Amino acid sequence: MAENTSVNNNDNSSSSEKIRQEILALKKSRRGSLLILAHNYQLDEIQEIADFTGDSLELARYAASYHVPARKEDMVIVLCGVYFMAETAAILNPDSRVIIPDETSGCPLADMITDDKLLELKKQNPGAVVVTYVNSSAGVKALSDICCTSSNAVKVVESIPRDKKIIFVPDRNLGDYVKRRTARHDMIIWDGFCPTHDRLGAGDVMEAKSAHPSAVFMAHPECRREVLDMADFVASTSGMLKIARESPSEEFIVGTESGLLYRLKKENPHKRFYLASPKLVCPNMKKNNLINLHRSLISNSPVVKVPPDIKSKARKAIDAMLAV
Ligand code: SF4
Repeated sequence: MAENTSVNNNDNSSSSEKIRQEILALKKSRRGSLLILAHNYQLDEIQEIADFTGDSLELARYAASYHVPARKEDMVIVLCGVYFMAETAAILNPDSRVIIPDETSGCPLADMITDDKLLELKKQNPGAVVVTYVNSSAGVKALSDICCTSSNAVKVVESIPRDKKIIFVPDRNLGDYVKRRTARHDMIIWDGFCPTHDRLGAGDVMEAKSAHPSAVFMAHPECRREVLDMADFVASTSGMLKIARESPSEEFIVGTESGLLYRLKKENPHKRFYLASPKLVCPNMKKNNLINLHRSLISNSPVVKVPPDIKSKARKAIDAMLAV
């Protein structure tokens, strides 16, 4: 029995190596007309093979500013992340074909606010400025004044005149953090949350801290207030990468999705990183893998489509954020 398992493991690893090599060959043969982008929460093997890895803001910026050798219409952008990220890439690159390896990789947080619910909230609060976290559908972005990410949310809210009421959707934890940081009291915060970050509790952090008493604790603002209050740093994933690089500390407890450990360890091989809890795994972020990435490169699908009217309205809210 043990022998069979070992044969199967060898078979699996040699077939995934074969797929990896085929993807590398496809990248080489399509250089200049193919761009693979991966979010920091993707599986290690996807991050390893991508042309660029980053957080939501970095992926948006990179997609917006990428100058392609090919004609834009011949360009294929593969977004390895969840669906709203691929929509954002499609909005910022209207002439290119944007594909996602697994089109069912949605984001439960993004699904917690719909166009209808936001329209209703706007009706109840005429004149309020709608600030929408990028973890939202293209339709919701199209109904917003400005987008934000976890790395620029404070700056975005600070850019809004203080006499204006703000509607912040869809993440209640990020909204609460921004409200506290900016002391903006006239802020309506939608009751959405990221199931992965929200399940991290103060008890989990206490356990991690007692196991690693010398470690610095970094928490993502999608975590609950009780967790953020225990953090040495509250930061987005790009912020955490910067802290890990620049801090003299040798050990870090990481309060965000497990995928970030790949880059943290790769960029800081002499430092040690501990996930704050094994609960910090987003199943949606793990849906893209080498097999479906390979398949989508061969078929140039599934294509992410955003209707033109939604695209142009959502683009305004994203551009407003990029300007800030
Ligand atoms: Fe959505 Fe949270 Fe998963 Fe990110 S980690 S994709 S916010 S559910």
